[in-house]
Amino acid sequence: CGIFAYLNYHVPRTRREILEILLKGLRRLEYRGYDSAGVGIDAGNNKEWESNAKSIQLIKQRGKVKALDEEIHKQQDIDLDVEFDVHLGIAHTRWATHGEPSPLNSHPHRSDKNNEFIVIHNGIITNYKDLRKFLESKGYEFESETDTETIAKLVKYMYDNRESDEINFATLVERVTQQLEGAFALVFKSVHFPGEAVGTRRGSPLLIGVRSDHKLSTDHIPVMYRSSGKDKKSCGALPRTDQDTCLFPVDEKAVEYYFASDASAVIEHTNRVIFLEDDDVAAVMDGRLSIHRIKRRAGDYPARAIQTLQ
Ligand code: GLU
Repeated sequence: CGIFAYLNYHVPRTRREILEILLKGLRRLEYRGYDSAGVGIDAGNNKEWESNAKSIQLIKQRGKVKALDEEIHKQQDIDLDVEFDVHLGIAHTRWATHGEPSPLNSHPHRSDKNNEFIVIHNGIITNYKDLRKFLESKGYEFESETDTETIAKLVKYMYDNRESDEINFATLVERVTQQLEGAFALVFKSVHFPGEAVGTRRGSPLLIGVRSDHKLSTDHIPVMYRSSGKDKKSCGALPRTDQDTCLFPVDEKAVEYYFASDASAVIEHTNRVIFLEDDDVAAVMDGRLSIHRIKRRAGDYPARAIQTLQ
């Protein structure tokens, strides 16, 4: 029922600080109501963030954010002082619609036992039974009773069946959303795309807060349309020819992004936000934010503005 994610890019943060930001974000969303909570962060205690980003740790608990906080501090094997120059953490408060409240049914959900892809979801996937049947017939094993777990498996299915190693994270997520019916706001994290985040929505709210001490490259992010399935490599996920119109901090690379269901969760960090619209796929890659989708619909507003909250 509440989504919160935090990506720091060349802004060094200890794991302790990252977890505090995530838990605080969840507490700000508590008023929306929930029955369980969870986080997904990089595992490992190496000094090099890239080697930690090769595995993901999930911590989930039934009950209040306080119960999750206690569960996190019970974990013996995580060093809270490890510093990450780049990191994506995702966090969720759940209001169960499919499957009872339990640690296993809590989010983030995972693609497989190695946590290659994880996802948080606000909403309901109405065609999840068909998707689950299809994925089970392909050998994917489910561990929860939720509709959401199909999304985690589906993104791995898209990855496992990719036509080329050049494929980017946003394209995989676009392919997933094309198969989904119902309402969703989603944020994805993957060991295959360290330091990258992809968020999308249809019918459930999702916004992105941006914080940087440096001037931003633009105040409007155009929505990019892809006419063919082919990716070009410029500006992260976008098939682009110039880099002026995705968002990044000018001069310095340091930037932080917050994905949230509600502005109340980001306002203490930044007052610059972008409200995503239905079918937007927003991706942060190399510290740059781009927004795109496969098909243009009639009446689409051409660009997403960065708004300043009062
Ligand atoms: N339908 C999902 C579930 O039951 C997500 C519910 C929510 O929005 O919290 O796990």
